[in-house]
Amino acid sequence: MSMLNSWQRNVSLAPLTTLGIGGPADYFVEAHSLDELADAVRQAKETGMPYFVLGTGANLLIGDGGFRGLVIHNRAESFEFNGNKLRSDSGAVIADLINASLDKKLSGLEHFVGIPSSVGGALWQNLHFLAPDRQSTLFIETVLSSARILDENLQIHEVAAEFFQFGYDESILRHKPIIVLEATFQLTLANSEDIQKQMYANMQWRRQRQPQLDEFPSCGSVFKKISGVGAGRLIEEAGLKGHRIGDAQISDKHANYIVNLGSAKAADVCGLLRLVQDSVSDNSGYGLEPEISFMGEFT
Ligand SMILES: Cc1cc2nc3c(=O)[nH]c(=O)nc-3n(C[C@H](O)[C@H](O)[C@H](O)COP(=O)(O)OP(=O)(O)OC[C@H]3O[C@@H](n4cnc5c(N)ncnc54)[C@H](O)[C@@H]3O)c2cc1C
Repeated sequence: MSMLNSWQRNVSLAPLTTLGIGGPADYFVEAHSLDELADAVRQAKETGMPYFVLGTGANLLIGDGGFRGLVIHNRAESFEFNGNKLRSDSGAVIADLINASLDKKLSGLEHFVGIPSSVGGALWQNLHFLAPDRQSTLFIETVLSSARILDENLQIHEVAAEFFQFGYDESILRHKPIIVLEATFQLTLANSEDIQKQMYANMQWRRQRQPQLDEFPSCGSVFKKISGVGAGRLIEEAGLKGHRIGDAQISDKHANYIVNLGSAKAADVCGLLRLVQDSVSDNSGYGLEPEISFMGEFT
């Protein structure tokens, strides 16, 4: 079939994830526009090929065996402002939207500075960070005004934020094969110095408490928050901070992060995930659930 010819074969996925782990995709295509993104999904469905859309690969563990199907790397990255609204393709990188918003003195996305994410991944996750008071959490859903999606029957719809059924690390995208094509954010005019101050404060907070990607590859927090307790604290109390299997290590800076010390395998990370779940359950009775996405074949 013609599209099979245009898809690349046997492409290594590890370099496309922030953790730097994972075997090859049997088929791989880059989508540089929303039409290309929708076409790739349609073609995968028509050929009965398993597929998934890859954003910045920041919340993903890909199995050592790789992915038997098509990986669609979303590089549709256009965006534009219309007054205080920002319309963006789903492959745009949140950091680029934050910088462009700052130039326009528009506030709303700066709270998510330092988080690697595409727009599509951000809605999948309901991207979040601590509010400036450091007591509550700010979610990207609060600035999302609408989105365009490709549903499981390949129909395109304009939807409001409520469609996504957002929660903490939670949205409908985690449960249904719905693809975000584009999103529109409602931002607010503000003073650019205030926006910059918030970005600086958040970056400082993150650097002090979490391993940064320029220090260690990771995929951010691996377990879902347990309200009022904190997964990191439970893992630390179970005595696992710094624990290592192969080159995968429970970060000694933040126990809910697993870092890749060099040549970690997905099997090492899975070993740590199981160890954490068992130890925390024995130690405190809590059942920790992973919040990351698992793709491909695990050995
Ligand atoms: C160092 C570090 C710090 C982090 N800190 C935070 C933090 O403070 N707060 C936070 O919320 N997260 C954090 N994360 C997690 C991560 O940044 C987010 O989950 C991010 O939203 C993932 O986006 P992505 O584009 O990388 O998605 P990917 O990892 O590429 O994909 C994740 C999932 O989303 C799906 N997906 C991607 N694009 C689409 C689309 N267009 N339509 C439908 N589904 C799609 C994929 O198929 C996959 O299942 C952190 C990660 C790292 C590495």
